[in-house]
Amino acid sequence: MPGFSFRAEAAARGSPFNPGAHRRSGISTQRVRVAVNGFGTIGKRVADAVAKQPDMELVGVAKTRPSYEARRAVEKGYPLYITGGGKLEEFQAAGLPVAGNIHELLGKVDIVVDAAPDKVGRENRTLYELSNVPVIFQGGEKADVAQASFNALANYSACRGKRTLRVVSCNTTGIARAAAVLRERWGVDHWEVTLVRRAADPAESKKGPINGILPTFQLPSHHGPDVRTILPDLVIATTAVVVPTTLMHVHVNHVRLARAPKDSKEVLDTFRSTPRFRIFAPWEHVDGTPQVMEYARDRGLGFNDMMENVVWEEGLRLDGRDLYFFQAIHQESIVVPENVDAIRAALNLVAEGHESIAMTDRALGLDRA
Ligand code: NAD
Repeated sequence: MPGFSFRAEAAARGSPFNPGAHRRSGISTQRVRVAVNGFGTIGKRVADAVAKQPDMELVGVAKTRPSYEARRAVEKGYPLYITGGGKLEEFQAAGLPVAGNIHELLGKVDIVVDAAPDKVGRENRTLYELSNVPVIFQGGEKADVAQASFNALANYSACRGKRTLRVVSCNTTGIARAAAVLRERWGVDHWEVTLVRRAADPAESKKGPINGILPTFQLPSHHGPDVRTILPDLVIATTAVVVPTTLMHVHVNHVRLARAPKDSKEVLDTFRSTPRFRIFAPWEHVDGTPQVMEYARDRGLGFNDMMENVVWEEGLRLDGRDLYFFQAIHQESIVVPENVDAIRAALNLVAEGHESIAMTDRALGLDRA
């Protein structure tokens, strides 16, 4: 049905945009049409994840200039649009076919995922408002860029039907997932986290440090307040250091639970039975992040990514109500499934977070990993 628009149809009926309802009522089996604006580390992964979803169609991706990533978009068959003041002649000179500009792309979709660099998402907001397109922003933007901050396990329901959402940063996503699990099961009185942060992503050759450990002198760090944009009453204090690695972040957690679990096995089993957690046993000999990412390369999901919170059996101890555990967070990919769920929440496609998580994880192969 060319030219069909869930948004236009909903507007014509004077009702909120709800293609899930259409589908349930048998009116339409159309997939939601998605654009990704910004095709870097996060954008290219979100684009692939969207393209794999049974209820979504990736209509196009937008780039500012030709690059190996623009070339990959073309090779994958993703229509390429120009954004952020990019020049058509540059794409033509590179021999990359261009389907149009960002305004044209926004006119064809039901929702856009903004994956532009930090703070550029806010600049793009006017563009989305003018096109009247719902938008998913990323964690590099301040919380007030959107109506709500989002995490699938922690606050899917509260985000349903909101036209603008912000998927929080990689570290905040990791903490919010763990917090959702621990609060639900035992309650959390108080949480202290030290974040050992990777200095740069693997492809970033201009960032550092390449030696030394840099304390973050903002005390406590911004991550705690950011988690509270999702879980407002969580008592949490975060501190951070930056270290010369590109693989992952590691969180060192001490949580004072409200009620004591039976034993540490009960906590591990709870994490193990929660989607988007991967527990490593001692016999797997995963000593740290190098083996985690080697496992991810062996497994070969996405861009050889590790989209789950990684918890070590040996790295979790319980002392009454005091829980100590390490978790590793793959910064480049942990937010990818959350972006997919945020699309379903914003457009009210699926009523429950766990339904959306199951759909997303099935399409990405995470349910079998
Ligand atoms: P990136 O630099 O890898 O990619 C950003 C892309 O956007 C680049 O291709 C750039 O050319 C393009 N771009 C520049 N100006 C643009 C504009 N005006 N409109 C559209 N696109 C434009 O950045 P990234 O790491 O993918 O980060 C994107 C967002 O995701 C940021 O908010 C960041 O904080 C967040 N995030 C990043 C990570 C991470 O570890 N990389 C993790 C979680 C969240």
